[in-house]
Amino acid sequence: MKLSQSFVKTLRDAPKDETAKSAKYLVRAGYVHKELAGVYDFLPLGLKTLRNIENIIREELNRAGCNELQMTALQNPDSWQKTERWNSDRMDIWFKTELSAGGELGLGPTHEEPGTAMMKDYIKSYKDLPANFYQFQTKFRNELRAKSGIMRTREFLMKDLYSFNTNKEEHDKFYHLIEEVYKKIYSRVGLSDCTYQTFASGGAFSKYSHEFQTVLPVGEDTIYYNADKSIVLNEEVLNDEVLADLGVKREELESTKAAEVGNIFSLGYKFSKPLDLSYTDQDGKKQLVYMGSYGIGVSRVMGVIAEKFADDKGLVWPEEIAPYRYYLVAIGENAEKKAEELEKQYSELILLDNRNMRPGEKFADSELMGIPYRLVISDKTLEKNSAELTARKTGEQKLLTLDELVAILSKV
Ligand code: ATP
Ligand code: MG
Repeated sequence: MKLSQSFVKTLRDAPKDETAKSAKYLVRAGYVHKELAGVYDFLPLGLKTLRNIENIIREELNRAGCNELQMTALQNPDSWQKTERWNSDRMDIWFKTELSAGGELGLGPTHEEPGTAMMKDYIKSYKDLPANFYQFQTKFRNELRAKSGIMRTREFLMKDLYSFNTNKEEHDKFYHLIEEVYKKIYSRVGLSDCTYQTFASGGAFSKYSHEFQTVLPVGEDTIYYNADKSIVLNEEVLNDEVLADLGVKREELESTKAAEVGNIFSLGYKFSKPLDLSYTDQDGKKQLVYMGSYGIGVSRVMGVIAEKFADDKGLVWPEEIAPYRYYLVAIGENAEKKAEELEKQYSELILLDNRNMRPGEKFADSELMGIPYRLVISDKTLEKNSAELTARKTGEQKLLTLDELVAILSKV
């Protein structure tokens, strides 16, 4: 990609009302554009980053045998009335609208209701189970407090997965599988060191649900952990009964701020009962489907990563999710020719800063944008048939021959 072709400019100032470091940098570096509080446009760099996260999640879920589909964001009140969640007293974040032809519609805040209702057409007998599906979809929530940039917004990208099983035992196996899949995902996006699976409040069908919480000073949640972090729990379940259950004492726990990046729930019959999602078992008897739901806030994950790794110069993306691996700056005419050749061949990996600007300004932008490696080719490095490589995270520099560089590029 050539920066000269991009309309996006880096900005000196962030919107005044942004307080989170990640939000300021994401706007200034040209990843997102703010429409209104809690409502953002994803610009080319931002979209590419978001898609990289999305693709990691997709790869891991597909590997685990999950089925991707896409449901509509428009919500039929019928199924929500059956679970008594259409009423704004029960669900206080609805965006609702009206059909010209008459009647109400909602913009989907989550998809348990329509997902359960949809599966009535496909699940009839025990032979149709187990089943699961997931989607990447825009969710709409009329959040009272939109804050922390893309970490809490009124429109956001969620990955939601739903599972359908004959009974609890079968469900539990899938639940454990997804626990492992989530650990893999958070590790691949670069958050494994600071993300914990926590005990959170359950519901009628399980004692606990689990959340995945990333330790973050600006996080909205408080989590409690013991010394080796083998037991981590949410504030809402911090009580004597739970402590006894987990075999840990209050004074053995420390607290820290964290951001919820995902969760997994045993839903049991919570939705299948009111929506009557059932199957005929081997004895011809009607049974309710045992369900689970599993969310990841994809755009929040991007915000959390931005917040977690940013330094005083700007964003610092882990390699796997950075929009480009290399930020290429050429100094001198021969170097420019070489740089253009490289960009042409590896346009998905290289962001070539061919704008008419001083190298110093380009270096500053490469740091603000958080591209993992800066490559500088100058007439001087070309004499040695090489390029200078600087790692964004560590500042470490080394000279790389162009052959070595091409070998690395073609491997990625
Ligand atoms: P929170 O407690 O942060 O409001 P939630 O319990 O409402 O989250 P879910 O409804 O289970 O979360 O949504 C699944 C995931 O979507 C969450 O784990 C979180 O990562 C993300 N998420 C939830 N609300 C938002 C939001 N307003 N903006 C961005 N991401 C969100
Ligand atoms: Mg919420």
